[in-house]
Amino acid sequence: MNAMDQQIAGPDWEALFPGAVYFDEPAGAHTSMGVGGKIDTLLYPESIRDLGGMIRLLSRHGIPYAVVGNWTNLIITDKGCRGALICTKNLNRIRMLPSESAVRDVRAEAGVSLPELVAFTVRENLTGFEFCAGIPGSVGGGIRMNAGAYGHSISESVAAVTLMDPTGKTETRKIDQLRFEYRNFHLPQGKTIIEASFRLREDPEKQVGDRVRQIIAERRDKHPLQYKNAGSIFKNPKDRPAGRLIEEAGLKGFAIGDAMVSEKHGNFIVNRGRATSGDVLALIRYVQERVLREKGTDLELEVKIVGER
Ligand SMILES: Cc1cc2nc3c(=O)[nH]c(=O)nc-3n(C[C@H](O)[C@H](O)[C@H](O)COP(=O)(O)OP(=O)(O)OC[C@H]3O[C@@H](n4cnc5c(N)ncnc54)[C@H](O)[C@@H]3O)c2cc1C
Repeated sequence: MNAMDQQIAGPDWEALFPGAVYFDEPAGAHTSMGVGGKIDTLLYPESIRDLGGMIRLLSRHGIPYAVVGNWTNLIITDKGCRGALICTKNLNRIRMLPSESAVRDVRAEAGVSLPELVAFTVRENLTGFEFCAGIPGSVGGGIRMNAGAYGHSISESVAAVTLMDPTGKTETRKIDQLRFEYRNFHLPQGKTIIEASFRLREDPEKQVGDRVRQIIAERRDKHPLQYKNAGSIFKNPKDRPAGRLIEEAGLKGFAIGDAMVSEKHGNFIVNRGRATSGDVLALIRYVQERVLREKGTDLELEVKIVGER
């Protein structure tokens, strides 16, 4: 019996949400870095309604939970997660709202993958989202992280975000009621992102696909995609990219266990095969100490660390 079973005397999760509940699931099978211990309970809602039911039940029983999307910006600790993780992967509906003009609102549920949304914009010839090409996250994770590249961030194309509170109540906030900053969205305490609307425009030149293909090719050259990784580990300081500071501190190729600073891109840590979260976190601390000592910059984490310490 795991911690979750002990805490919930009553609801039968598997009966309530058939096929959507996994106990003692190894996080390493899900995180893009391939590391992390056991998750007590992993839930996959099939619909926003399911998600509401799960969140209500968890809140009512005082069970801690967190929501994840594509697991591409997460390091889950070796001790794993107590309580529940809810993965939005199956909340994957995309709709385009009718419009008389060239401006189009696209509505996507939190679990829609950014690559799928980019592919949608290519099919529909909508411009404004090309910079997200190659970012492997989800809509919910992308908004939470204010993901971006090439000088653009997802907040530039967001028109509204729908949030759910711990009682399952939903509320849509327009962009002027939301606070974004570099690689961060001020998610109100206890809320979950369930859907977002993006304001895009028809491309008169019909070259969305060409631009997306070019970006994906450039990223393939720059990023160590042959290894498991979690994207950029540190936020870029204002004056210089984190990757350059790490490279100048001589850390490319430096490893602790199987966690290594990529030889291709200083701001990526790669899993050469059997890295643990402990290896990755030790390497993160070591890089921060060396860059502070040698370059005078205190690198701030971009990836989120989740789980028991
Ligand atoms: C190869 C590679 C390349 C990458 N390139 C880039 C890049 O160019 N630019 C960039 O910005 N990022 C990049 N990333 C990082 C990552 O893909 C983005 O940050 C992405 O937006 C994270 O989305 P996710 O669904 O994977 O989030 P997750 O890793 O699942 O979660 C990240 C955080 O968001 C929270 N969260 C997720 N969903 C929700 C929700 N529905 N409601 C509330 N909170 C939620 C989680 O609790 C967690 O705190 C890259 C990653 C990889 C592996």
